[in-house]
Amino acid sequence: MQETALDFVIAALQKIRQTSDRLPRASRLSIERLQFVAPNKVDLLAPVRERVRICTKCPHLASSRTQTVFGVGNPDAELMFIGEAPGADEDKQGEPFVGRAGQLLTRIIETMGFTRGEVYIANILKCRPDTPPGSFGNRTPTPLEMQTCRPYLIEQIEIIQPKVLVALGAVAVEGLLGSRGTMRELRGRWHSYSGTPLMITYHPAYLLRNQTPSEKRKVWEDMLQVLERLERPITERQRNYFL
Ligand code: URA
Repeated sequence: MQETALDFVIAALQKIRQTSDRLPRASRLSIERLQFVAPNKVDLLAPVRERVRICTKCPHLASSRTQTVFGVGNPDAELMFIGEAPGADEDKQGEPFVGRAGQLLTRIIETMGFTRGEVYIANILKCRPDTPPGSFGNRTPTPLEMQTCRPYLIEQIEIIQPKVLVALGAVAVEGLLGSRGTMRELRGRWHSYSGTPLMITYHPAYLLRNQTPSEKRKVWEDMLQVLERLERPITERQRNYFL
């Protein structure tokens, strides 16, 4: 039986026992039916979020971060985006993809016909990679940092069970699949992560650096494939769209 459902029943029975003279009655059948109660994904994510919040597996990141950045969006999402790591803006706000690259990702999500709150967004790393004092910009996570943090992302994916995953950039792919490749050979076609269809596309930060229509169009074509896979209706305007 689902453990949270069972806990709920036991707590309810105890409460009735304490507050009423009548003994609670629950048939075996009604208790057995509880195993079909859909698990509440918010409740399942909460303990993972708490473990992340206090994580010190990478002591250098635990001491440099403002806060951990767990993930944001709908725990029942069909579509989940995976980035590499929080940057300075995300570290400050505690939410993934809120800086310039995040604004572009939000535009992509909205042009696909979703709101940010309807999808789920997370990173391989939950801490901002530390940078030397006084330096600007963000640092790429190391393979060891990604390997250390990856189990949290795996738990998120297992709980959310999205229909489609989108990995943003080669670093996210390396963090998720453990293998490095060039975006030229990886993007634009279906891969699989543990049985879940995985689309690999460019990181929005790459698009901010390479504003050419052809690169932007590639990302949009990848997203059209995602919409098709999700069996979402695609308008003519969406088909012809350039980011
Ligand atoms: N880049 C990422 O990969 N993740 C973020 O959360 C922000 C920028």
